[in-house]
Amino acid sequence: MRAWAVVENGAPLQEIEIPTPEPKGTEVLLEVTHCGVCHSDLHIWEGYYDLGGGKRLSLKDRGVVLPLAMGHEVVGRVAKLGPDANGVAVGDLRIVYPWVGCGVCDKCRAEEDNLCLNLRSIGIFQNGGYATHVLVPQPRHLIAPGSVDPAVAATYACSGITVYSAIKRVMPLPPSEPIVLVGAGGLGLNAIAVLKAMNHENIIVVDVSAEKRELAQKAGATRTVDGSGSPEEVTKRVLDAAGGPVLGIVDMVNGSATARFSYDALRKGGKLIMVGLFGGELTVALPVMMMRMLSLQGSFVGTPKDLREVVELAQRGKLKPLPVSTVPQSQANEALMRLRDGKVTGRIVLKAEAA
Ligand SMILES: [Zn+2]
Ligand SMILES: [Zn+2]
Repeated sequence: MRAWAVVENGAPLQEIEIPTPEPKGTEVLLEVTHCGVCHSDLHIWEGYYDLGGGKRLSLKDRGVVLPLAMGHEVVGRVAKLGPDANGVAVGDLRIVYPWVGCGVCDKCRAEEDNLCLNLRSIGIFQNGGYATHVLVPQPRHLIAPGSVDPAVAATYACSGITVYSAIKRVMPLPPSEPIVLVGAGGLGLNAIAVLKAMNHENIIVVDVSAEKRELAQKAGATRTVDGSGSPEEVTKRVLDAAGGPVLGIVDMVNGSATARFSYDALRKGGKLIMVGLFGGELTVALPVMMMRMLSLQGSFVGTPKDLREVVELAQRGKLKPLPVSTVPQSQANEALMRLRDGKVTGRIVLKAEAA
């Protein structure tokens, strides 16, 4: 198979030829038709996460091996089944749930794969969709896109379930209660769409870019807030827009500055859900956490059930698709560089030549 792979961290992706895997046991081989280019691919490509204070979390130390075909927002056609794989047939179009674990622990068995201690995520710890083929461990990781445009359906595997499960963590809240979304990139626009699909009415979006704020407004944000300037200034603007401190904030940037202004805008009993991978750190006064009963919760992607629920929302026509632009798979590197340079609104999706 052909792959547009990370051969060296931070260097351009290279088109390489690697042996096409043979599906064993319950494994399923798919021919990739679509693959989203996610912001976290930039971190995988660079080879580390920024932990703040000059510290880095190396992906090599976490078990990422090069060369690697990244890509965890994959849609493909079933090409070959392992002898024990049931429930799909050759030719079926499926979304790949990429956050697969060991497959045998309690969490994996309960379909909470993303809580497995031995994650083997597709596109991170094993080859993903920046390739002509992808190997999936079990048929239950394959979800039918139905009538949903496969280019849009691909994005549900990461950005879709990430925002869906993060929003579920601040819910239930009354429809008129302000919910603040930090970041109006691919995740932020998907989050607006999910909140609208849940009939939520008060959505406040923070972003540093005027262009992205305008997109958020068009996507259905009730109000937008300029995220530039000091965290103190942004907190004030958020409080103004929300009419006071806020119960639910989903920070899809999750950097030192956004975490600061978000935390400081929380109401008593408020929850800050931390989703992005921008990096940095947050200092909290412990007595304040306790007296104000605040919650800080990290949220990492979602479960296969979340993916099925997001697809169902989309099938019912409730979920407005985020803007996607498709480019040929062979332009994976250019797509990644455009994302790095902040030139992407919505999502770029790589499309196979045959698709
Ligand atoms: Zn992603
Ligand atoms: Zn497991």
